[in-house]
Amino acid sequence: MAYERIEVYSPHSLAEALELLSQKQEALRPIAGGTDVMVMIKDGVLKEKELLNLSYVPELNYIKETENKLLIGATTKYREIRRSPLVNAYTPILIEAVRQIGSPQIQNLGTIGGNLGTASPAGDSIPPLFVLNSTVKLQKLGGSREVQIDKFFLGPRKTVRQPDELITEISLEKMEPGSYYFFEKLGLRSANAISIVSAAGIIGLEKTTIKYLRLSLGAVAPTVIRATEAEEEATGKELNENLIHVVAKLASEATKPITDIRGTAEYRKKATYGIIYEALYKIMKGFGKKVEYGVENTG
Ligand SMILES: Cc1cc2nc3c(=O)[nH]c(=O)nc-3n(C[C@H](O)[C@H](O)[C@H](O)COP(=O)(O)OP(=O)(O)OC[C@H]3O[C@@H](n4cnc5c(N)ncnc54)[C@H](O)[C@@H]3O)c2cc1C
Repeated sequence: MAYERIEVYSPHSLAEALELLSQKQEALRPIAGGTDVMVMIKDGVLKEKELLNLSYVPELNYIKETENKLLIGATTKYREIRRSPLVNAYTPILIEAVRQIGSPQIQNLGTIGGNLGTASPAGDSIPPLFVLNSTVKLQKLGGSREVQIDKFFLGPRKTVRQPDELITEISLEKMEPGSYYFFEKLGLRSANAISIVSAAGIIGLEKTTIKYLRLSLGAVAPTVIRATEAEEEATGKELNENLIHVVAKLASEATKPITDIRGTAEYRKKATYGIIYEALYKIMKGFGKKVEYGVENTG
């Protein structure tokens, strides 16, 4: 298709970007890596005439730590996240997800803020952010607010972001050393595939007793969800096959999937059970991934 003329604004500071957005509001569409926006413009899903290019705003690209948290700037690219010693050490579950996003080309351009902005229930960075109890910082001219990740999405492609706000930072809780984790993604092929079902989990164990379990599921409801009933059922119990069956069943029951070209609703429910069962079974048998500060987990 022939592109219509599009004006691109490329501010060199956050203040300038927020000023432009406050003037133009929804007429101006933020763009970071463009891996979603450009596809949507090409397909005619977006008919934007003006884009706010965030690539030259230095204040939005960083990975920092505080005592208990990691702070990731919105335009930080997947490649940078994969290579970050801080993310590898303290939130390796995010690395597990990011390495399964798209392809090297997509990881070289795509940003974590863009994944949140697209608000797809199949966005792969999102299930880890749910179990990391993340918050999203939204900033506008003269103010900012923090939104918990489970309050950020309103439905497919819908978020609480207002037209004059930018996503500027994602804050993640550091994982506890010794905790186990998984991110599993089921797609139609191994690269460049949208998730049919995805799941992220963090589990704290005291010998074989579950201190806590955090479970989130992607692509099986209008937004990513936490499987809270499954989490509550597991807490304080012995990790054994019977419990794994109950937890996987509760997680599957928490889903509200749709049927689409990638899979039926029924398949998604069954796949959720299977993914959770297998992930927890591996941990029970001693093959799970464990958080060890200072050790590069994957990459
Ligand atoms: C071939 C291909 C494969 C892909 N595979 C995967 C995959 O496996 N898993 C997956 O999750 N995704 C996948 N994607 C989708 C996409 O790469 C990701 O969603 C990516 O994170 C988008 O980031 P971006 O910086 O390119 O976003 P952009 O396209 O620049 O923007 C996406 C949306 O977010 C908004 N936005 C961006 N930054 C901000 C900000 N700072 N503040 C407010 N709004 C903002 C934009 O306005 C837009 O609505 C794939 C895409 C392609 C083309």
